[in-house]
Amino acid sequence: MTSRFGTRESPAAGAGTWHPAVDLPNWLNPCGRPVYAMVPGEVTLSSALFLSIKTPEGFTVSYLHMYKSDRIVDVGDQIAASQQIGAMGNVAPSSGCHLDIRVNVAGNTNPEVAKLRVYDAAGGGCVNPIEVFPLFGIEICPADNCSHV
Ligand SMILES: [Zn+2]
Repeated sequence: MTSRFGTRESPAAGAGTWHPAVDLPNWLNPCGRPVYAMVPGEVTLSSALFLSIKTPEGFTVSYLHMYKSDRIVDVGDQIAASQQIGAMGNVAPSSGCHLDIRVNVAGNTNPEVAKLRVYDAAGGGCVNPIEVFPLFGIEICPADNCSHV
């Protein structure tokens, strides 16, 4: 993990010092490692920077920095958990190929997710992804092969 949820030194011009996400690097560069959906849902946004998937429980998981040309899903597509959605990229603001994962809880109906602390960030309320994914049996940065920052 190269950038955690919360305050940080800004690593790239245009990137904020309050980081509503976790960053996982493409190990090693160059770009191109596959990116898989953490949880199922429908693609609701595919902008220059964001690919967002709204889960059936209402919260939205966004995957940032993938080049549009590397995305293999688009708005309206139904996505299964662990389905490949694209590949790691370096769309700005970014200081190296990585995946930024963030969770927005607007519209959430999952009672366990609703218990998590909500932070205000650009685009609305977000929660720490490190706290979300264990609720779905996923460890985002396992100690045996991933270093926390
Ligand atoms: Zn990030």
